[in-house]
Amino acid sequence: MKKKIIILTIVLSLMFTAFSGCIDETAPDANAQSNPEEKTEDTVANQYDSNDILYQVSTINALLEGVYDGDTEYGTLKQYGDFGIGTFSGLDGEMIELDGEIYQVKADGVAYPVNDTTTTPFAAVTFFETDTRKNISEPMNMTLTEEYLSEMMPNKNIMYGIKINGTFEYVKTRSVPKQEKPYPKLVEVTKNQPTFEIEQVNGVIVGYWLPAYVDGINVPGYHLHFINEDRTAGGHVLEFDIIEGEVEIDNTYDFFMDLPESNDFQDVDLSSDKASELEQVEK
Ligand SMILES: [Zn+2]
Repeated sequence: MKKKIIILTIVLSLMFTAFSGCIDETAPDANAQSNPEEKTEDTVANQYDSNDILYQVSTINALLEGVYDGDTEYGTLKQYGDFGIGTFSGLDGEMIELDGEIYQVKADGVAYPVNDTTTTPFAAVTFFETDTRKNISEPMNMTLTEEYLSEMMPNKNIMYGIKINGTFEYVKTRSVPKQEKPYPKLVEVTKNQPTFEIEQVNGVIVGYWLPAYVDGINVPGYHLHFINEDRTAGGHVLEFDIIEGEVEIDNTYDFFMDLPESNDFQDVDLSSDKASELEQVEK
């Protein structure tokens, strides 16, 4: 948000400067441009609800290509959201952010706390504000729950934060082991991914449903991570059966991308379609 405000402030300031060169400097209305920066920031702030922004680091296709080192710190990401999913530099596990706390589920399936200086090569966060909430009062599998959630979405052209808090009969998750350079592609790493089956557990599923047009940038459709109630276990969700609980969605209208300044990101070829690789790594 800050970056966007600053960029717009600069652009609009330049416009003011250019425009003021064309008009009579002695015009009585010169007062209107006495403090353009203040005025611009007000305008931008009014235009965007900062809680409704999905803030993303890098692109999913860069991750698929093995760009596993990031330059954005989690301390910075916390300023842009209290809720989200992602991974860690070196592809060191699955990230869950819930209520402003960040957890790292490593390849042993255990959730660890995360320092603010830890960096990420790919993550997406938002400030979760519930727009629609519904109870789950009878057992549902993952497919039925996703259909239930889909019916809560007013349309399929915006982005949605998804939160499912409940008692689960079964949750199957996976994580990914930390990689060493030269980094293999993600599709190679997930061939040997450790999976975990957690039974009779309370916890929260955190994630997104994103429209098809994010293809190449993020994951179209559902992308869900899990953290148990004790905040000790979780991972990237492969399957679940929920007994009861509640589902919440956050309708999200704004999107911000923070692209890495690293050479790895700048040199990688992101021009090809990787939809089938993405399909493989998400399962
Ligand atoms: Zn994931």
